[in-house]
Amino acid sequence: MRKLSIIFMIILMVSGCAKAKGTESYISKDNAYVSINYPVTSINVLDEAISSYVNKIYYNFKKMDYINTPELNISYSYKEVNNDIINVSLQTEIVTDRTINKIKTFTYNKHNDKFLTMEDLVQDLDGLDYEIKKELLEKYQDADMDFLSNVSYDFFTIDDENLTIYFNPAEIKSDHDELIYLDIPLNSLKLLIDIDKAEGNDTYLSIKKKNVSLDDKVVAITFDDGPSKYTEKILDVLKKYDASGTFFLIGNKVEFYGDTLRRMLEEGSEIGNHSYDHKLLTRLSKDEFQAEISKTQEAIKKVTGFTPNLFRPTYGGYNSKLKSYTDLKFILWDVDSRDWQVKTKDKILKNILPNVKSGSIILLHDNHEYSLNALDDILKNLKGQGYKFVTVSELLELKKLRESE
Ligand code: ZN
Repeated sequence: MRKLSIIFMIILMVSGCAKAKGTESYISKDNAYVSINYPVTSINVLDEAISSYVNKIYYNFKKMDYINTPELNISYSYKEVNNDIINVSLQTEIVTDRTINKIKTFTYNKHNDKFLTMEDLVQDLDGLDYEIKKELLEKYQDADMDFLSNVSYDFFTIDDENLTIYFNPAEIKSDHDELIYLDIPLNSLKLLIDIDKAEGNDTYLSIKKKNVSLDDKVVAITFDDGPSKYTEKILDVLKKYDASGTFFLIGNKVEFYGDTLRRMLEEGSEIGNHSYDHKLLTRLSKDEFQAEISKTQEAIKKVTGFTPNLFRPTYGGYNSKLKSYTDLKFILWDVDSRDWQVKTKDKILKNILPNVKSGSIILLHDNHEYSLNALDDILKNLKGQGYKFVTVSELLELKKLRESE
């Protein structure tokens, strides 16, 4: 089974002094724009390596001294080279009075569950070393020879045509601020592993920039059982309040709502898996359960290119056995609208509003008109209380960032 990837982006407005009443200069000194953007792959070792690298960068950034509002941008590229090999590269840009660029790559081999090094990959490393230095000197004539002799080949990506090697500008000690890389055609190399042609599996990105402060009150609104004829209207209301939702979809409905699903992602909402037929899952065999999951994953991927990594069990019913049958993250809720039961806007509001706190996950359904009717008031009220509306993945990511404070 191909591993799943979910990609999202958070733009954080870090304002460490938001609660303190500071002078203006204090505020501008403590403000920073942070945009962290990295993939989560469902391969634990890889995910941990990526997130610990990102956390380290973020931690060091917060410790930096600066005068003007500094900026931290981490962006990534993700590529499944073939069924075994995954490339992730993270590009960091730190803007203060000058710009610093950094690259970090992870090449993971699922075949043996190990990170791939250049030694695993290329037979004649010495020959390659010679070629690379020659090219670097040609391309960057101001490159420093001493530095060149210590150049490392830790950062690389592969596709079906090239091995690309990246160098941090500091490594070359040139005046160039941008990242330096060399493409080496695979057919000029003796490789120690097979690089088959990849099948087309570009992932659709769910990206919408959000301005969320680490101190902001955030809430994730989730909609189960869709898509339905009300979903587009729900998206209209979300849009009105610049809000994202998380839609846990039933697989067998998905193919009829391709445009709606793509709109969800384009407008910054998230899609999760809510089984294929909405059966009570605890009664299913392992195979039946896994079919419920994988058929839904396929259906969503087919219309959007995006593969979810969140799962909401039907009726909230699950056990540890079910959890062990999938890599998807089980997401429950702490605020239940009981919309399907109370059926009126006022009662839905009463079930939700007094119970929301920062970090809450609210459960609604997107196949009832009364839920749609309540949504505008829910968002208006919570927005009035200062809440920002994020997706479940963003909520989890924010919690992680707060814990690393
Ligand atoms: Zn349901």
